[in-house]
Amino acid sequence: MSSRQPFLSARLQGFGTTVFTEMTRLAIEHRALNLGQGFPDFDGPDAIKEAAIAAIRGGQNQYCRMAGIPPLTAAIAGHQRRFYGLEYDPEAEITAYAGATEAICAALTALCEVGDEVIVFEPFYDSYRACIAMAGAVPRFVTLRAPDFSFDPAALAAAVSPKTRAILLNTPHNPTGKVFSRQELELVAALCEEHDLLAITDEVYEHLVYEGEHVPLATLPGMRARTIVISSAGKTFSFTGWKVGWTCAPAAITAALRCAHQFITFCTPAPFQQAIAGALALEDSFFQKLTEEYRGRRDRLSAGLASVGFEVLRPAGSYFILTDIRPLGYDDDVEFCRALPAKVGVAAIPPSVFYEGRSGGRHLVRWAFCKTDAVLDGAIARLRGLAVQSA
Ligand code: PMP
Ligand code: GLN
Repeated sequence: MSSRQPFLSARLQGFGTTVFTEMTRLAIEHRALNLGQGFPDFDGPDAIKEAAIAAIRGGQNQYCRMAGIPPLTAAIAGHQRRFYGLEYDPEAEITAYAGATEAICAALTALCEVGDEVIVFEPFYDSYRACIAMAGAVPRFVTLRAPDFSFDPAALAAAVSPKTRAILLNTPHNPTGKVFSRQELELVAALCEEHDLLAITDEVYEHLVYEGEHVPLATLPGMRARTIVISSAGKTFSFTGWKVGWTCAPAAITAALRCAHQFITFCTPAPFQQAIAGALALEDSFFQKLTEEYRGRRDRLSAGLASVGFEVLRPAGSYFILTDIRPLGYDDDVEFCRALPAKVGVAAIPPSVFYEGRSGGRHLVRWAFCKTDAVLDGAIARLRGLAVQSA
């Protein structure tokens, strides 16, 4: 073994193990109900599963088109047209990846020079920070502030420097459940235009909106030309383990993205692409039902958490709820979440890990409601034990 230590490069120092891995491990160890890591405890439609199985049986088992199989890229183009009126050329402007995670990594790697700055709203999805570091770029943070998790326009403007390359934006937002308003997006668009910045938009929760509407930044005047739209099939079709993600971006930008993608994974598992092509073409009623069912789960878990004594910051989108834990006498989210599986048999996520330097969110805890009613109710019943213990 090499004696040169540490093995982990300087760029990745400090990132450790993701909070999702840590909390799911604790959940398994203590047989806890896992409201931590955001994956549904139910599967997507049987017909979509059958389509993947049929693709395997039918011989789609070798490397496929690097940028995505034509039925998938055509289906993504159809989805963008149907829901947002956005036109993309599937040949030149749409690319498939191993989930949105790879798309984010490819975008930052392909588009940033070493030393370029990327503006990120905090709290931020954990892979952004690591992918910015792996790209050799530098993050600049703009904080979203409770209770509505809006941002200070002056702070956003002040975050722009001559080195800024892109603004990375996630709506609907993990972990807050915020859905960026058209007015907020207009402020972002204006800055992108003024300073000639790219916009990278992570829209993986695009179909999970309960209040307001999902507005893709690319639909704002002038923004299609400078936006890399990222989404994936995991949340919309409840197949997070299939890892089929995509980007939509103008041809010249897409050429850059594909340069990175071809050396990261080269191509995405073909049978899953084939199945998701069919899923994206499902009728409108599928998407409406998805939203309605998730609205019900949001309301169920919100009411339950409030009844236990937490202050609920009601999310407009995504499948996460943030609560303030101070009413129950706690003020350290990491301590709280590490102890919770053993204490009452429930797992959750501490949001301070989504803040630079863990400087914010310590009084908050994130709960995922992409779970069956029995699990949501069971978790609430167990959490009542917490209220008794703290009394
Ligand atoms: N972006 C956000 C905001 C997420 O919450 C997640 C995790 N589900 C991802 C990206 C990763 O998506 P995927 O599973 O498609 O890689
Ligand atoms: N996006 C999921 C969440 O926020 C986790 C994905 C992962 O485990 N990397 O819970």
